[in-house]
Amino acid sequence: MKLILVVDDEVDILETIIDTLDFEFEKKIMVDKAMNGVEALAMFRQKKYDLVITDLNMPEMNGIDFSINVKELNDKMPIIVFTGHGDVEELTRLNHVGVQAMIKKPDVEKLVETVNGYIHT
Ligand SMILES: [Mg+2]
Repeated sequence: MKLILVVDDEVDILETIIDTLDFEFEKKIMVDKAMNGVEALAMFRQKKYDLVITDLNMPEMNGIDFSINVKELNDKMPIIVFTGHGDVEELTRLNHVGVQAMIKKPDVEKLVETVNGYIHT
């Protein structure tokens, strides 16, 4: 059983990601959700997650600052960024932070494929 933390400020997207992961991976995963980096970081400090999936553009704390904080707490934690804002500048910053993958919304298929690599390890 893998524990995944999914972070996005848009409820529809959050639900779509969670429904898709539940459908694809059934009993292999448990998913927690948060709607911004502050909330997500508080959860990350409480539990031992196997994978983090995060949006970039969020109120309170954005996905980059959240990822930096996660990596400070656990530099081996895999982070997948799922975002609509995939410009070159952000890619460079994400690489610098140590994010494992960046997937452009709404490519849920690619997200599943990438998550699959972490579920079966
Ligand atoms: Mg957003």
